[in-house]
Amino acid sequence: MLRAGSFSIYFKKLAINFINVILPIPLQKLFTYRITEAEAGFVKIGTRVAVPFGKSKIYTAIVFEIHSEEPKAYEAKEIFQILDETPIISMIQLKHWQWIASYYMCSLGDVLRASLPKAFLLESETLVLKNAAFEEVSVLNDDEFLIWEALEHQSKLKIQDIIKILDRKGVLAVVNGLLSKEAIEVKEEIYEQYKPKFVKYLDLHANYASEDRLHGLLDGLSKAPKQREAMLNFFQLKHGNDDPILMKDLLKKGITASIIKALVQKEVFEVTQVREDRVSFDTDIQPIHQLNEHQLKAYDEIKEVFSQKEVCLLHGITSSGKTEIYSHLMAETLKQGKQVLYLLPEIALTTHIINRLQHFFGDKISVFHSRYSVDERVEVWNNLISNSNKAQIILGARSSVLLPFSNLGLVIVDEEHETSFKQFEPSPRYHARDSAIMLGHLHKAKVLLGSATPSVETYYNAKQKKYGYVELNKRYKDIQLPEIELVDIKEKHRKKRMKGHFSDRLLLLMEEALAEKEQIILFQNRRGFSPIVECSTCGIAPQCPNCDVSLTFHKFNNELRCHYCGHHQTLPKTCPACENPTLDSKGFGTEQIELELKELFPDTKVARMDLDTTRGKYGYQKLLQSFHDHEIDILVGTQMLTKGLDFKNVTLVGVLNADNLLNFPDFRAHERTYQLMVQVSGRAGRDQKRGKVAIQSFNPYHQVLQQVTTHDYETMYQDQLNERHQFHYPPLVRLVRIVLKHKDFIKVDAAANWMGRSLVNSFGDQVLGPTSPSIGRIRNKYIKSILIKLPPNIALKQSKGQIQKIRDSFMSIPDYRAVQVIVDVDCY
Ligand code: ADP
Ligand code: ZN
Repeated sequence: MLRAGSFSIYFKKLAINFINVILPIPLQKLFTYRITEAEAGFVKIGTRVAVPFGKSKIYTAIVFEIHSEEPKAYEAKEIFQILDETPIISMIQLKHWQWIASYYMCSLGDVLRASLPKAFLLESETLVLKNAAFEEVSVLNDDEFLIWEALEHQSKLKIQDIIKILDRKGVLAVVNGLLSKEAIEVKEEIYEQYKPKFVKYLDLHANYASEDRLHGLLDGLSKAPKQREAMLNFFQLKHGNDDPILMKDLLKKGITASIIKALVQKEVFEVTQVREDRVSFDTDIQPIHQLNEHQLKAYDEIKEVFSQKEVCLLHGITSSGKTEIYSHLMAETLKQGKQVLYLLPEIALTTHIINRLQHFFGDKISVFHSRYSVDERVEVWNNLISNSNKAQIILGARSSVLLPFSNLGLVIVDEEHETSFKQFEPSPRYHARDSAIMLGHLHKAKVLLGSATPSVETYYNAKQKKYGYVELNKRYKDIQLPEIELVDIKEKHRKKRMKGHFSDRLLLLMEEALAEKEQIILFQNRRGFSPIVECSTCGIAPQCPNCDVSLTFHKFNNELRCHYCGHHQTLPKTCPACENPTLDSKGFGTEQIELELKELFPDTKVARMDLDTTRGKYGYQKLLQSFHDHEIDILVGTQMLTKGLDFKNVTLVGVLNADNLLNFPDFRAHERTYQLMVQVSGRAGRDQKRGKVAIQSFNPYHQVLQQVTTHDYETMYQDQLNERHQFHYPPLVRLVRIVLKHKDFIKVDAAANWMGRSLVNSFGDQVLGPTSPSIGRIRNKYIKSILIKLPPNIALKQSKGQIQKIRDSFMSIPDYRAVQVIVDVDCY
C-alpha cells in the first residue's frame, strides 16, 4: 500500500506503534493492532484498550506487548480507544496467566475471561441511527423498510431491537443493506458497567475557618431559622471534631436536602464525595490467640521449612488448630508489608470462617468468591492492584488465584485435598492449588498447604521432599478423636434389623444423643448421576478387570462399562460375587433419608443440606446458623457437611452408606472415601465430650473403612500408592484427557478415531480410548473421550507440545473443524 511519502513509512517503521493484545475469546494467538504516536505515549502493558474485531464487534482487550513489528499476515487495525491510565493487570499476574495458558493448554483469552470481573469487559452494542439525508425510500426492500420506519419513531435501535422487529436472528444482511443504500449509520456505544458507590460528606467551607467568621455566620442566619437549625445540628454531630460528617446523618436529624443545598450554594457547607467500598465490615479487632505448645512446635517447623523450601504441607488432624497457625503466619507476613492469599473451597467460605479471621485482621481482609456481586469483585480487584490497606489478605475460592496481587508474601491453601479447587468447565481447566504454588513461586512467596487428609499427590510430593512436611497430631485442648464404629448392614438386613436405611444400632445411638439434647449430623452422599450397579444382597459392585474401578451402568444397551479403558460387558443376571439375582442400580439420596427421619422421629426437627436447599447467597449460611442455634436437631446432607464446620453440640455423626463412595468409578474413589469419612467424623465431639461416629456399610471389612476407624492415613496412602503404581495413575503418571463433541455421532466417532490414532503414534499404549462416557450425549452432542497417561520420565512440556501439534493438524482437517475439542490437563 502506498502512503504519503516514503520518508514517513521509514520513520514509522522505527517508532513503536503496534500492540499485541489478549482478546477475551478462545483464540490461541494474540492480535496486533496499530496505535498512533500520541497513543504510544499512553499505552502501557496491562492496560485495557477497546479494539474492533471482526465485522462489527468491539472488544475490551488487554495490552500484552508493545512493539514496532508490523504483522505480516494481515493489516493491523487501529485501536478504538485506550481505557485505562494505569495497568489493571500486574506484570507478575500476566506471567502467571501465561503459565496457566501453557500448562493447561488453553488460550490467554480464556484465562483473561476467567480472571477479569465482567464489569471490566465493556459491552459493545451496535447502534443503528437514521441517515436524515436519505429520501429514496422506494429502493428499500420490505425488511429494510420496516427498520427504516421504526427509526421514524425511535432515534436509535440496537441490533437486539432489530431482531425483535424482524422476528428472526440473521439480521445483519438487512443492516448491511440499509448501510450500503446509505439509509442508516451505525455507531458503537461503549459503556462501563461498574458504578462505584459514593457517600457524601459535609464540612464547613474554608470561608468559615475562623471563630469570628463563624459567629458572624450564625448571627446572620437568625432570619433563616431552618438553616440555623441545620448549622446547630451540624455542630452537634461534629462533636468538636475535625472530621467532616456524613450528609446522611444530618438528613436523619430531619434537616431536608433542600436546606443543605441552600447552605452549600451559600458556600457555608462544602460537599465531598468519597467512594465507599461496598464490602465493608464493622469489627473490633482482637489479638490473635496464643498458640499452645504443639501448635507452636508446628509453627516453628513450618518456619524452618520455609527457610529452605517454597512449599510446605501442614498435616494436622481436624480441630488441631490449623487456622490458628495460619493466623500467626498471616500476621507475620502483614508485618513485612506483604499480601496474603488464603484459598478455601467455595463452600467452606462461610460467615463462620470469615468472622473468625476478621476478629483478628479486621478491615485488612477482603473476601472474593462467586456468590459476591460483580461490583464487590471489582472493588477487591482495585484494592489489590493499588495495594490498598483493605486488601492485605484475600480470603477466596478457586478464582482468587487469578487476582492482581502486587506484593504477595504468603499463600495458604486450606483443605488442599478438596476437589473443588479444580475447574472442569469452562476453560481454563486449572487447579487452584497448583496454580497457587506457581503464583507463590513467581512472587517468591511461601505456600502452605493444609489438610487433615492430604491428597495422595501432595503427600507424595512431601515424601519426595519436593515440599516440606509438618505434622500436628494433637487436637486443641486434647479433645479425643471420635470413636468410629462400623455397622454391618448386610448382616442387619439379613436379621431384619433395618428400618428403611437405618440400622437398629444407628437408631439407638441417635435416640441416646437426642435424649441428651445433643445434635446429630447424617451424611448421605449422592454424587452425580453415574449409575452404579450394586448387589443389594452383598453390596458388591462389578469391577473392571483392567482397572481398579467399578463399572458404570449404561441403561440404553444394558451394558456395564469402564470409563478408563473402555472395557464393556452385558449386565450379568446374577451378582458375580454372591450369585443372587439382586443386582440393583437404584441409589438413594438425602431427600429420601429426610422423609424416613420424619417418620422415625416425628418430634425432632430435621433439615436437609444439599445443593437444592442452599441456593442463593445466604441459603447455606442460614441453614448453618439455625443448626448452630439448635433450631435443628438432625441435619442430613451431602459432602457440603464436611467442610470445616465447628459445632460444639454435635456428638454423633452417622454415615448412611459408605459403599456408594467406595464403588464410585474413579481411581480416587478410595482416597476420597477416606478423606470424606475422616472429615465428616471430625464434625463429631469438638467439645469436651468424646464424639461418636457410626458408618453403615455392606462391606465393613473393606481396608479403607478399617483405615478410617483407626485414623491410619499412612497405610491408606501406601495402599493407594501401590495401586496407582500398578495401574498407572497419578501421581505416578500425569493424565491428560481429550474430549471431542459433535451433534453428529458418525463425525465425532471418526474424528476421535483419527485423534486416537495420531496420539498412539506419539504415545503408544499410554493412550486409552477413544471411549464413550456413560452419558454419551449431552445437550444433543455426542461425546468421545481419550485419556493419555504421560509417564514421568518424559518432559511434560515436550509431550504437551506434541499434543498441541496433533490438535493443530486436527483443526486443519476441514471435516473435523466443527468438532469441539477439549483438552484437560490433570483431569482429576
Ligand atoms: P482445624 O482448622 O485444625 O480444624 P481450628 O483452627 O478450627 O482447627 O481449631 C478448632 C477450635 O479450637 C476452634 O474453635 C479454635 O478457635 C480453637 N483453638 C485452636 N487453637 C486455639 C488456641 N491456640 N487458642 C484458642 N483457641 C484455639
Ligand atoms: Zn477399565
